[in-house]
Amino acid sequence: MEATLDTLSTAEIIGKAKKYLIGNYTRYPVALVRGEGSNVWDAEGQRYLDFFPGWGCGILGHCPPRVVEAVREQVGTLIHVPNSWYTEPQAVLAEHLSLKSGWGGQCFFCNSGTEANEAAIKLARLNGKLKGKFKIITFTDSFHGRTMGSLSATAQPKYHQGVEPLVPGFVYAPFGDLEATTQLVDEQTCAIMLEPIQGEGGINLPPAGFLEGLRELCDRRGMVLIFDEVQTGMGRTGQWYAHHHWKVTPDIVTLAKAVAGGIALGGMIAKPEVAVNLKPGTHAATFGGNPVAAAAAVATIETIEDEGLLERATQVGERFRMRMEAVMAKTPLVTELRIRGAMIGVQLACEAAPIVAKCLEQKLLVNATHGTVLRLLPAINIADDQIDEGCELLADVLLNHAA
Ligand SMILES: *Cc1c(COP(=O)(O)O)cnc(C)c1O
Repeated sequence: MEATLDTLSTAEIIGKAKKYLIGNYTRYPVALVRGEGSNVWDAEGQRYLDFFPGWGCGILGHCPPRVVEAVREQVGTLIHVPNSWYTEPQAVLAEHLSLKSGWGGQCFFCNSGTEANEAAIKLARLNGKLKGKFKIITFTDSFHGRTMGSLSATAQPKYHQGVEPLVPGFVYAPFGDLEATTQLVDEQTCAIMLEPIQGEGGINLPPAGFLEGLRELCDRRGMVLIFDEVQTGMGRTGQWYAHHHWKVTPDIVTLAKAVAGGIALGGMIAKPEVAVNLKPGTHAATFGGNPVAAAAAVATIETIEDEGLLERATQVGERFRMRMEAVMAKTPLVTELRIRGAMIGVQLACEAAPIVAKCLEQKLLVNATHGTVLRLLPAINIADDQIDEGCELLADVLLNHAA
C-alpha cells in the first residue's frame, strides 16, 4: 500500500493547509518534517537550529530517544483507557511529580496547560465555597491559556477582545506589587494565581520578596496560592519546579508544555488538604493521564534525572548569558537579559518580530513575545557548540539590524 504521508513538497503542504485549515495561526512559510535534538528539517531537507523546540514543550529537544522508545512500547500495549481504571504509567508519573514537589502534592491529569488551569480554578473555588469565597486575583501580563476560565484569568485585554463577557470573579493586580495585591483581597477572595516567572508576558522574574509575601498574604487571609508552572515547570529553570528557587510552597501547581517531552499532557498538583475538595463528579478529563502520555512523561523525567539535566539547564542559561552579554556590549538594541536556567528573555529596544524573521532566514528558530522580547526556550540538553552556533547567528542578525 502506498504511504499517504511524507510525499508532499512544501508548496503542496502549504497549499492544502491554506485551503482546509482555519487561519487562526500566523505561520512561517516552512513545513517541518523531522526533528532530532536541537535540529529540525523542512520538507526540502534544509536544517534549522531550534532555540524554541515545540514552543517550550521540547525540553529534551526533538524526538528524545527514551521518550520515543517509551511511547512506541506503550502504544503497542495499551493506548487509552478511561480514568475509571488504574494504570501503571499514570500512578508512577503521579509519584514522580509528588515526590519532586517536596510538599506531598497529589495529581490530576489532563491534556494541556489551559485545562490544567481550569482544574486549578475549579479546585480553588470548590475549596473556598464553604467560606463563601470565589474571587481569584491574577496579574498584569500573565498568560494562563485560551479557554474561557483561563482566558479570564489572563490579565491581558488584547486576548479578551471580541469574546466577552468573561467568566466573572477575576481581579487583576500589577505583577510584582505586593501592596496593591493586598489591597485587592476581600472576604470573597479564594485564591491568588500567577506564573512564578512570567513567560508569554516577556520572561519577567518576580521582584525580591514578592512570592514570599503572597504566601504570607494567602495564609493570613485563608486563600490558596496557585502557581501556573505550565512554562516554568519540569526542569526548565534548573529546578523541577521554578518555585523551588524561592522556597515558597504553593497549594496548587499546574504543569503542561515540557512535562511529557513533547506529547500532550497537562497536570495539576495540589496539597492533599486542598485536593480533597476535587471529589468524584466535580471534574474529569477523558484523555487525562492516558497511558501513552503518562509513559512519555515518566521517560522525560527519568531522562532528566539520569542525565543530570537540571544542572545542565543552569549551565545552558549561563552560557547564553555570557554570549548575549557580549552582544549587548556591541549594540544598544539589546537592553536587558532576563534568564533563569533555560528560560531566556532578551529585551530589545526594537520590535522582536523582524529579528525572528531574519533569524529564520539564517535557519535559526527563536520566538518573539510581548512585542519587544526575544524568547528562547532551548532544549536543556543542547550542546555548547549548538548554543555558540546559534548565538553567533543571532549576534550577526542583531548587529546588522538598523534600529
Ligand atoms: C502555554 C501556557 C499556557 C497554556 O497552555 P496550552 O497547553 O496552550 O493550553 C498556560 N500557562 C502558561 C504559563 C503557559 O506558558
